[in-house]
Amino acid sequence: MNIPKSVSMYCPNCKKHTDHKMRLFKTGQARAMSKGTRRMQRKHKSGYGGKTKFPAYVKKQNKRPTFVAECETCKKKISFVINKRMKKAELV
Ligand SMILES: [Zn+2]
Repeated sequence: MNIPKSVSMYCPNCKKHTDHKMRLFKTGQARAMSKGTRRMQRKHKSGYGGKTKFPAYVKKQNKRPTFVAECETCKKKISFVINKRMKKAELV
């Protein structure tokens, strides 16, 4: 699916429609010392162990991409999800 590189949309900071630069959101690296990873490590180490999270039997083929729109006047970023599964999201 083709998505335009710049879109005119409402900016809550400027309180009017301005041009926004679009880009795809990428997840960062998971922190090793975060509460969630520490909890998972504790779960795996205690008792007889075993998996606490199982992989899905049927994986979804496509993903709903998250986009980040940056206002070109105030440089504020808004992230949003396009609620449609797509194989490929291209910025044109
Ligand atoms: Zn703005």
